[in-house]
Amino acid sequence: MLLLIPGPVQTRPEVRAAMAQDIAPWDNDFKAVLTGIRAKVLALAGGVPGEHEALMLQGCGHFIMEAAIRSLVPAADAAAPGKILIPLNGTYAGRVERLAREAGRQVVTLKLPETRSVTPAEIAAALAADPAITHVAMVYSETGGGIVNDPNVIGPVVHAAGRRLILDAVSAFGALPFSLAEHPECDAVMFTSGKCLEALPGIGFAVVNTARLQAGAGNAGSWSFDLADVYGQVLRAGPGSFRFTPPVQVLAAFAVALDYHAAEGQPARMARYRENSRVFHQGMRRIGLKPYLEEAQQGPIINIIHQPPDPGFELQRFVDELKRRDVLISNFYNTPTPTFRVGCIGDVTPADMERAVAMVDETLTVLQIRQRG
Ligand SMILES: *Cc1c(COP(=O)(O)O)cnc(C)c1O
Repeated sequence: MLLLIPGPVQTRPEVRAAMAQDIAPWDNDFKAVLTGIRAKVLALAGGVPGEHEALMLQGCGHFIMEAAIRSLVPAADAAAPGKILIPLNGTYAGRVERLAREAGRQVVTLKLPETRSVTPAEIAAALAADPAITHVAMVYSETGGGIVNDPNVIGPVVHAAGRRLILDAVSAFGALPFSLAEHPECDAVMFTSGKCLEALPGIGFAVVNTARLQAGAGNAGSWSFDLADVYGQVLRAGPGSFRFTPPVQVLAAFAVALDYHAAEGQPARMARYRENSRVFHQGMRRIGLKPYLEEAQQGPIINIIHQPPDPGFELQRFVDELKRRDVLISNFYNTPTPTFRVGCIGDVTPADMERAVAMVDETLTVLQIRQRG
């Protein structure tokens, strides 16, 4: 089966095989694995030892994003409240907005079309217009529509305005470039084990500026989601320790996936995903379907395609029929109009994407979908 979803992704058999063991979290052998993961993740994020720390939380991307926002941005009723600007050009940015609001944080959104990146001028204007904004929370690769908001372009604007950046790099990290050493404005960059790092889902990472984190200690309003407390554990009990029971097998597999990532390298992984995305995007046009984005706005992580206008098209039937041809895609979409979504990440190649294009074509023919785009 070719799994083409934006996480959990298709993994290597060697990565999955590392899960087939029983592990005690406090065992010295496992401590060494955890310590190694922490050091490698810190280096991957361009973190500076002594300034940044790689923190982990059990669970999914939403959990680690909520933890970062709670731990770094003072609540609306704090003595010096924080205020978060969120460029809103996709569903995942909308999720950051919701979890920030439900955590009692002040939020202001910058509403944009879902079909293009936010520009530095738009961020600069929004920051100039509201001096109360303390943080910008931005989604690097917007998994909703497939566009990319580049922190390497936006970060300097946030820095110049004297504000802080919180980066949701959940579907970007490991493929798209980002280095904390080059982003003094960045308080934290978040990602998970199960997307571009090509491991199993179950762990959220936040590589944080520790001085900023400690300055905000007591902000979180939640013990489970308090990253200052997670960091406190690292200081108290060492980098090989975890606060509560971790998914040990997922971490063992993650260590193996990191080795494969190191062997491929971030630039080559990005190039592979870009080619996967290009092959699929152009393939869709070739077989008469209409991509959601112009090619210039198309990011390397996920392709969104308009559903054929043919009245006979039904998404679940299409997904089921495609699965019978060994290609599995999402059975839902996150855009205002009906689309289908196809991930370009994981242990997949451009040749796999070519096969997926051929199978989409065959499936539509079998389902007698004549009006395609
Ligand atoms: C996948 C993803 C998340 C987190 O999703 P979970 O289902 O909570 O792991 C957050 N942001 C973006 C941009 C994502 O792609």
